Formats: sequence, C-alpha cells, structure tokens
Amino acid sequence: MTSYKAFHARSIEDRNGFWGEMAGLIDWNKPFSKVLDYSRPPFAKWYVGGETNLCHNAIDRHLGVRGEQKALVYISTETGEETSYTYRQLHAEVNRCAAILAGLGVGKGDRVIIYMPMIAEAAFAMLACARIGAIHSVVFGGFAAASLATRIDDARPKVMISADAGMRAGRAIHYKQLLDEAIDLAKFPPQKVVLVNRGIDKGMQVVAGRDLDYARLRSQNMNPQIPVTWLESNEPSYILYTSGTTGKPKGVQRDVGGHAVALAASMKYLYCGEPGGTMFTTSDIGWVVGHSYIVYAPLLVGMTTIMYEGVPIRPDPGIWWKIVSENEVSVMFSSPTAIRVLKKQDQSYLRKYDVSSLKHLFLAGEPLDETTHGWIADALGVPVIDHYWQTETGWPILTAVPGVEKTPIKLGSPSFPAFGYDLRLLRETDASEAEAEEKGVVAIVPPLPPGCMSTVWGDDQRFIDTYFTTFSARMVYTTFDWGIRDKDGYYFILGRTDDVINVAGHRLGTREIEEAIQTHTNVAEVAVVGVADQLKGQMPLAFAVLKDVSKIATPQLRAAHEQEIMATVDAKLGAIGRPSRVHFITLLPKTRSGKLLRRSIQALAEGRDAGDLTTIEDPGALEQIRAALAGK
Ligand code: AMP
Repeated sequence: MTSYKAFHARSIEDRNGFWGEMAGLIDWNKPFSKVLDYSRPPFAKWYVGGETNLCHNAIDRHLGVRGEQKALVYISTETGEETSYTYRQLHAEVNRCAAILAGLGVGKGDRVIIYMPMIAEAAFAMLACARIGAIHSVVFGGFAAASLATRIDDARPKVMISADAGMRAGRAIHYKQLLDEAIDLAKFPPQKVVLVNRGIDKGMQVVAGRDLDYARLRSQNMNPQIPVTWLESNEPSYILYTSGTTGKPKGVQRDVGGHAVALAASMKYLYCGEPGGTMFTTSDIGWVVGHSYIVYAPLLVGMTTIMYEGVPIRPDPGIWWKIVSENEVSVMFSSPTAIRVLKKQDQSYLRKYDVSSLKHLFLAGEPLDETTHGWIADALGVPVIDHYWQTETGWPILTAVPGVEKTPIKLGSPSFPAFGYDLRLLRETDASEAEAEEKGVVAIVPPLPPGCMSTVWGDDQRFIDTYFTTFSARMVYTTFDWGIRDKDGYYFILGRTDDVINVAGHRLGTREIEEAIQTHTNVAEVAVVGVADQLKGQMPLAFAVLKDVSKIATPQLRAAHEQEIMATVDAKLGAIGRPSRVHFITLLPKTRSGKLLRRSIQALAEGRDAGDLTTIEDPGALEQIRAALAGK
C-alpha cells in the first residue's frame, strides 16, 4: 500500500500522471487531449477537450448495475415524510424535471436559481440542470429577500425553482414570500418560477403568468427521455455564492470534468465510500458541503445518499444515530457545532442505537475543539476526522486520507494536505515559508487541483485580485486562514486573516452585517466583530453609533431599538447574520488614518488585551466599548 506521503508527493510532482489516472474514475463521452493547461496563470484548465456530464456520471452510468439500488433516501423529521428513490426512479424524476426546464426554454449555459428547502425535488433540480448543461445556483434558505435579490441580479436566472415553505424545528420558513420580495427588488428577475407546493403555506400567493406548479408540470412530463448534454470539461457546472470581506458576495464558479474527478477521487481515497454503501451528510444543499457530499459525490460513486430535513435533537437527540442504524450508514459527515449541540444532551441516546456500520465520521466547516473531537471519537468508537476546506475548493484541503493510509489522528488537527494541494504556510511579511511551530498564512501554490473554483462568475479579475494578490513576492492562492504545523507535520487552523466570521459553520462577512445594519435610518456608523461562542464557534456582535440618541433615552427605548436593528439584519441578510447584541456608543475606535480597529474591539469582547494602540485616534472610544461590554 502506498503511503500518504508518496501519494501526496506524486499528486504534485507528476500532476499529469496522477490526475490522468484519476480521470478514469468517471465516464467521458470524448477523451481529453490534455490533463492540465496552465498557460494562463492562475486559471487552471483540467482535462482540456474532454466531454462529460455530471448527471450521466451520477445516475445514468449506474443504471445497468444499480438500477434497483436506493440512490436517495429522503427523511424529514419536520413533516414525517420518508421516501426513497432507486437509481432508476431518480433517473425518471430527474428526466421529468429536466423536461420541465427544457420546456421553459432552459438550455446549455442558462442559469437556474434553486431556492429550496431540504426536499428531494431540490436534488432533482440540481441534477436536472446538470443533465441539460444549465448552470444552477442554489441559494441557502436562511438568506433574506435582499440577499437573494443580489444573487438574482448577479446570476440573472432564466428560471427559479422554489417551494411554498421549509420547516426547521417545527417552524415554517416561507420561501415563496421571500422569493416574491426578492423578485420585486431584483433588476433582472427570472421569466418563470416553478413551485413545489408542499401544502405548508396554505395562503401561498401565485403570480399569474409567472408562477408554475411543479406537480402539474411533472404530470405533463411523466416519461420523457432527455438526453444528457455533453459539456467540455471546463464549462461551468454551477455557481455558489460565498461571503468575503466586501458586502458583495462572490459567485464561486465550478467546472464539470475536474469537479467530477476530484469528488470521485475524494470518495475513494478520503471518505472510503464504497459503491453500494450509504453516506449521511447533515448539511444543507445551500452550502458547498451539501452540493459536494449530499448530492454529487455519493451518487458519482454509486452510493445511497441521505437527505435530511430537520435538526439533530428533534424528535429526540438520538435521531441521527437512528438514521445511521436503520440505513446502515458507513460514511457520515457533519459539523462541529452539531456535535457540540449533541454533547449537551443526555448521552444515553448515543448508546441506544447500533451504529456499528459507521466507519468514519468526518467534521468540517469550522474549527473543531479538542474536547469535542475527543468526546465524539470516544462515544462512537470510530475515527473522527476533522478536515478543512472552503466553498472555493469544493473538497478538502487538509485531511487524513484513510483510503491511502490510516495515519493516526491528533485531536484538534485536520491532519495533512490533501492530494493535489501544494500547500504552504507563508510568513505574512515576505511570503517566505514558516518553520514548524510558526504561524503562517495557509496558501496553495497554483495551479489549484481539479474541483476547485475556476473563477468568480462573470469577473475573472476579481478572482485574481481576491485570491492571488495577497503577496507581492509570489502568486499564490490565499485561503485567508492562519495555520501552524507541529513538529510531526500535523496542521492546525488558527482562524481567519480577514474580517470573515464563522457562525456554526456558516461563513459571514462582518462587512455584510454592517451594511445590513447601516440601512437602519438611525444608524450613523457601525462595527461588527466575531466573538468566540462556546456552542456556535463565533457570534457576531455589533457596536452602533446612532444619529439621534433620544431614541434610546430610556432602558425600554434602548431595548426596543436594539430589537429593531436586529430585525433589520433579519430582513436584509437573514437571521443567520443577526448579532447577539447591538451595543450603542458615540464613537468607534479608529486609527488616525480612519481605519476601524476591529481586532481591538474583538479582543476586548473576548476578554483579552486590546493589543497595539499606538495609532488610535481617541482612546476614549475603546473605553466606551469596555463600558458597553460591562453593561454600564
Ligand atoms: P465555507 O467556505 O463557508 O465552508 O468556509 C470556509 C472557512 O471555514 C475556512 O476558510 C475556515 O476559516 C473555516 N473552516 C472550514 N473547515 C474548517 C476546519 N476543519 N477547521 C477550522 N476551520 C475550518
């Protein structure tokens, strides 16, 4: 058996050989002429000239051997629904959805925004887009109308697919209402909206001529055979928006061939997902984890995938282990926050079910603390693998690869660079390489491996400017994370280098939250920082300077004003961005050149020293922050 080190070294030193072999994990309609074209750095083209299709690889090619095997198991503990689809049934549903889209004039290269709760139709819609060469952009349901409108205007979809409502912890989330508001706000609205009516929102409004009923269209397209549209490997497959340091989200664009190969390779060598086995990923299709490891990757390798609507503690905290037991799940993927939630519950639930089918639990999305890592590894008795990645990469950057070598796991560490990643820790000052035990910026020497973003949708320059210009000394991809490597070569992630925060695995730009708060008419200025939180990793905290302070003249008025500002965030961005508190002050701490001293505010909020304050304009501003935090 090859060692991890040799496997990784070959992936970098012999890119053509290594990735050329990996390409054999998927079907090609037309072979590629070149494994890698890196003639236009930093844009990497993988499998040039090759033609393939994600839907064919995820469904059609399995029909012969696994037509009757379950492909998708849908479980909603919110509505009580449980339905499974064999590969043959999934093929039929995806063909129906593809026929609906084609009937509405959607073809190759057209964008389709999928704004849907966790229902099977969301997966059908993604795969149907892939089938006909349309580019999907799934928008997470937790985003508010204004955030959805920004994404509509950037992607300019021909059609949107949505539903009346989703459910979370027994509460309905009214997708259709939010969609209507977003379309009103958008400059480039879609021509048609297809709606899955789950019967949750009884008063759902339908816009005549624009809104169409999915069930009706499906019944008119019961037996279509929509041929797959073969795409050149580098054509776009999807766009997924992610937060950064500016208020405008970036459309991460992914290709087709490299994406399929990277996911298939990750299933084989990293997740150890066997064809015929079952994978349970507890994410949402609105996030990259949902794209890669609920929908595409498990199907690409012929596994059964579980799609779950609900929370980890309803009807009781044993629900996930019940699902693992009943479906003989072999690969599970979740987030540190979810495990921290479970850690707080009665432990008997973990012992109630037979989870011996499970080979590994993978966790990602945010830092995994040692205590939680150790606790869940002991409780399950299987390796718990912390792995580190980003929306931009689409699959792990740092991880153990148990399919290659079962390297020992160190608590709190996402192990080593994944194959294909020429990863370095660079000194911030001059881009030279950090020694062991020395903090550095986690960077990747390009070309990025297959599966990583190919560009920012519609903005090649932004791709270069955002990710490749941190260091003037050399062109490297910056992850915007700090990392450190110990003497044994294990990596640890230490947090972001930029103003992005991570709330329960959800990435948010502090700038985005500030912009949302600033739309409140009484806010003159605001600073938002991420503050350590025991359960969610981080929580946003806001400090606002008001135009008219008479609005907070009494404690009651102050509390009402704080609520009003929080509601503004809910409305503009979504409840996931809502700060835990909004403190009112009269001055923000800034440098003499006017730069906000965010790190100092954050340090104070976390009970640390405010750091170097030699450049501060007015130290009284920090005093106000201290007083506000102390509740004075
Ligand atoms: P997203 O693109 O939303 O998945 O967020 C990516 C960011 O989440 C990374 O840049 C990290 O800051 C953080 N992250 C993801 N996985 C991990 C992990 N295993 N350990 C520490 N941070 C992580």
